[in-house]
Amino acid sequence: MSLGSIISSDRGERAELSIIKDLEKAMVRRPPDNRARGWHPSQLMEMCPRYEVLRQLVTKDGKKIEDVGIDIRTQMIFDVGTALHEWWQEKYFGPMGVLKGKWRCARCGFKTDGMETMPKYPHNCDVGPKIGGTPALIDHNPKDKIKVGHNRTWKFDEVRVESKKWGIVGHSDGIYILGMGSLCEEDVVLDIKTAGPTFWNGGGRPYPSNIFQINLYMWLLGLKKGILLYVDKGGVDKSLSAMCKEVVVPYNDSHRKDACMKIDAYRHAVAVKTLPPRMVTCELRPNSGKAKGCPLKSACLSDKTACAVEKEWGTVESL
Ligand code: SF4
Ligand SMILES: [Zn+2]
Repeated sequence: MSLGSIISSDRGERAELSIIKDLEKAMVRRPPDNRARGWHPSQLMEMCPRYEVLRQLVTKDGKKIEDVGIDIRTQMIFDVGTALHEWWQEKYFGPMGVLKGKWRCARCGFKTDGMETMPKYPHNCDVGPKIGGTPALIDHNPKDKIKVGHNRTWKFDEVRVESKKWGIVGHSDGIYILGMGSLCEEDVVLDIKTAGPTFWNGGGRPYPSNIFQINLYMWLLGLKKGILLYVDKGGVDKSLSAMCKEVVVPYNDSHRKDACMKIDAYRHAVAVKTLPPRMVTCELRPNSGKAKGCPLKSACLSDKTACAVEKEWGTVESL
């Protein structure tokens, strides 16, 4: 075989032999949204009550909109975000002793009680193989203090937030002890955001939806301050200081009111079996912005929809 043909086969002459194709086969499409039922703080700023009713009534290609699920590529982008969250929570903030939440032993599954900082040492569990009396797992000697950047023994379980009254459910990234040990020590809501080139090249300004979301966490956790920590998810060649950026967000009750108003509008519409009104922006600009990207735009803007969907009202959830 000539060098030329070796190179061309490396470059994909045998196209079926490919890491990417292997991965695509191995990755199964995850089930459609399997999050807990209820309103999630991340969705409420953009939530359109009319859309939320319509999506339960209107079908597209024989499927309801929510059944579609996300594609593998999008799922992989989410996976990078999840991995970076774990990295910062478990390798840095956990061993630093500044992050409150629930911690789970990776070895035996033991969970700490309530909201507390990560234990300074591995869990003293007595399971699995041992070498000379010491648990045989790297980083899991209960006598070795965990160093920042090295924890592999404690996993962080995100902090559940909810309002039964409003049907809101979600998970916060934890409570950060700001200024720990100083006179001005205080608990603040931590919200880690993985940010790509659009964020960094756009000047690193926090997105309004992130400010809205962290305000809802503050409300639900009873705290007056939050920190949005933007973490570079790669793809930008910047100095180390640009790898993360923190934005302090004071509590602003108007975000809670907006969220509750939207939930009220949805609940009222379900109670009286009438579609909620269109959003003003969609009414004014049906060919741009939110309406343009809305998968239910044609059903929403059609005058026939309201009558056509009425007979299906029994299937609408009263969230
Ligand atoms: S087009 Fe606008 S008003 Fe209509 S359902 Fe979509 S987001 Fe809501
Ligand atoms: Zn354990």
